[in-house]
Amino acid sequence: MNNPPLRDEFALIEWIKQRQSADPRVLLGIGDDAAVIDVGSSCHTVVTTDMLMEGTDFMFPPATPYLAGRKSLAVNLSDLAAMGAIPVAAFISVSLPRRGLKWSQEFFQGIFDLAREFDVALPGGDTNSWDGPLVVNITALGTPGPRVPITRSGAQPGDWIFATGEFGGSIAGHHLTFTPRVREALQLSQHVDVHAMIDVSDGLAADLRHILEASHVGAIVDAPSIPIRESARELSLTDGKSPLEHALGDGEDFELIFCVSPQDGMRLRDQPLADVRYTHIGMITEAKDFLLKDEGGGLSPMPDVGWVHRM
Ligand code: ADP
Ligand code: MG
Repeated sequence: MNNPPLRDEFALIEWIKQRQSADPRVLLGIGDDAAVIDVGSSCHTVVTTDMLMEGTDFMFPPATPYLAGRKSLAVNLSDLAAMGAIPVAAFISVSLPRRGLKWSQEFFQGIFDLAREFDVALPGGDTNSWDGPLVVNITALGTPGPRVPITRSGAQPGDWIFATGEFGGSIAGHHLTFTPRVREALQLSQHVDVHAMIDVSDGLAADLRHILEASHVGAIVDAPSIPIRESARELSLTDGKSPLEHALGDGEDFELIFCVSPQDGMRLRDQPLADVRYTHIGMITEAKDFLLKDEGGGLSPMPDVGWVHRM
């Protein structure tokens, strides 16, 4: 059958299937009741899932269907990155709004392009349409990187805290176009023993707090060291919030926060990795307080900012 008229779910699935290339990891791909994949020699598989909803995670405009598709895979790859895992495959379940076939194909094209960039197979999913907004859930699988999966719970007193990239103002566009830090996480875990790591979706302060709670430690974050995105500075000109407040609380930066021993911290400082941009932003403490240190050295409690889904 060549080029069937693309009217229904099955025609769209066929179109998706035609766009997958042969992949030795996919033993049975799109077309049966389930997929069979070979995740490699490790007997551990890292699995993550994330649901995105129009109205919360993106609006059209400024999002396009392409960027919505891209983001829905990118957030999952960001979670795999935070575990230090190598992405293998992703499963896409989608409730498509009835906005025409081209709209749906553009949505999938955003997924395909990012999947190709990160060598992710797309061996299955579920396709639905309804009179509601776009809802998409992706489940991504990966294999552990060079070390065991990196958790939130391994931070130790004295560890140096680092962050990749910049923070704040992601609403101006970064939240739709970011590159998940998969390569950075792998490079870091090849060079140093990463004790704990998380990706920043809820906000720098809120997500570092997750590491502290899981590790039963506290932290002092050096406010002037926090790398602030230009769009956070621009927003702060008109909305009365400081650039620092944006950086701590905005969220959807999809950068990594990670903790390493002081020895490894010094190595990262003195022999910077060529392809990874990272900044030393603070220190893990035995005392369980979460503190912000200002320019003058004064300490104050970290503001309780960040994104939470309210019930
Ligand atoms: P079933 O009714 O048995 O659940 P479906 O008709 O939903 O099967 O799906 C048929 C095949 O198409 C399955 O292999 C499924 O994984 C695949 N598939 C469906 N939707 C997608 C999608 N959005 N992306 C990738 N594969 C998909
Ligand atoms: Mg079935």
